[in-house]
Amino acid sequence: MLADLRSDTVTTPTPEMRDAMAGAAVGDDVYGEDPTVNALQAEVARQTGFEAGLFMPSGTMTNQVAIALHTRRGEEVICAEGSHIYEWELGMMATFSGVVPRFVPAPLGVPAPEDVRLAIRRSVHQSPSGMISLENTHNKAGGTVIPLDVLAGIREVATQEGLPLHLDGARVYNAAAALGVPVAEITRHFDTVSVCLSKGLGAPVGSVLVGSQAAMARAHRYRKMMGGGMRQAGVLAAAALIALRDGPAQLAADHRRARVLAGALVDAGFAVNLEAVQTNIVYATLPGAAERVAGWAERGVLANALGHDSVRFVLHHQIGDEALDRAIAVLTA
Ligand SMILES: *Cc1c(COP(=O)(O)O)cnc(C)c1O
Repeated sequence: MLADLRSDTVTTPTPEMRDAMAGAAVGDDVYGEDPTVNALQAEVARQTGFEAGLFMPSGTMTNQVAIALHTRRGEEVICAEGSHIYEWELGMMATFSGVVPRFVPAPLGVPAPEDVRLAIRRSVHQSPSGMISLENTHNKAGGTVIPLDVLAGIREVATQEGLPLHLDGARVYNAAAALGVPVAEITRHFDTVSVCLSKGLGAPVGSVLVGSQAAMARAHRYRKMMGGGMRQAGVLAAAALIALRDGPAQLAADHRRARVLAGALVDAGFAVNLEAVQTNIVYATLPGAAERVAGWAERGVLANALGHDSVRFVLHHQIGDEALDRAIAVLTA
């Protein structure tokens, strides 16, 4: 295979990660006794500016635990249209927490603070608003970044209205790299943040939910209910600590390569909205997407067909310049 561009989840653990996994100090994490998990949780909390963190197997779980924490049955989750918490999490907000989404418009993945305010429901005839959730970067919109002044505006709405604000930060380190700010400049606006270690940062497994000490104590129960109590999970946390240490500095190169790929696709006649190419994701519109993707796969380049006329390419640290050049040759042949 030349290049797997289906997702940034496809990276495999580096030799250094495998060594760290083999030598990891472990304990029973359901009792809070795994020293490597505790170190990972503390480090994500420190970098994002929160009191505490909780390690879980997936970003779906960290998001859904956050929804359970912040809502009561029958309430609405205000979120940007296309949000992963609804589109790709299999109705879990309804089945686990008994809540429903209310979408707000989000051109390029960015909801306007005023539209968030207008989505809030208080009437006795309607489902009350329970929380606000943002996604940064926004996957379905193309890996797009929410500007800091918009975050501050939505934070103000949340505070004025007394609603908790959650961030699906599966790729929040990509957003920080694109803005050129420490990740805490983004996360400080939120009550809870879900951070994926297994996307662009390159860990094999895992996400961390961060928030207050009290919120994470409650989150521990929801994690257990979902089957996310993982015992000697230090073997996974050991790899995630390396991803957290080395991953963020590599993201700018992924973003540069995404722009190179997008430019080459445009030159070859693909329709790409270059305004949306802000981080490591490139969407192209082309008729017969599924057949095109199948043809490329035979020639060693994997991409994701989404819908009948859309293809997604995702850059990650295991696609270097040379692999990208060879992939571009196949895609534009
Ligand atoms: C990948 C992703 C998640 C979490 O997905 P898992 O596969 O459950 O780890 C959450 N939100 C966004 C925006 C994502 O891209």
